[in-house]
Amino acid sequence: MEPRKKAQDVFNETNFIFNQKTTFEKAFPEIDKISVEVNESGKGVYRGYGLSDYGKHNIGEFINCNNPKCYNGGFNIGDIIRGLYFNKKTEAAGNAYCQGKEGTPKGRRTYGDCENDFNYSIKIEYKSPEINDDLDIK
Ligand SMILES: [Zn+2]
Repeated sequence: MEPRKKAQDVFNETNFIFNQKTTFEKAFPEIDKISVEVNESGKGVYRGYGLSDYGKHNIGEFINCNNPKCYNGGFNIGDIIRGLYFNKKTEAAGNAYCQGKEGTPKGRRTYGDCENDFNYSIKIEYKSPEINDDLDIK
């Protein structure tokens, strides 16, 4: 079966003109550590093997779905991380549905929504602010 492009692939191809792609460090300079656990269930996921771990170096804007017939599949984890970051929150967990649709390889024809879903949990550790007590105490 010809592979379908997933959400991260479509994002990479379509947004590069408008958005300057940034590394995680540039986008979230105050994050020291991040751990993201995603448990996908649905088509293309072998029972008991849906769990993936992500960190600073392999997390992207999207988590792709594994349904082989799904085009543009995945969910936007970047938005969720940004929401946490700007509120300085350290944890979140929730559920997200795949944004993709089952269809032909290039997405010209679609048959219906992909029903894969993802349970995610995110933990963030922030860098501690630099302490400069020389100026304040003396
Ligand atoms: Zn999907």
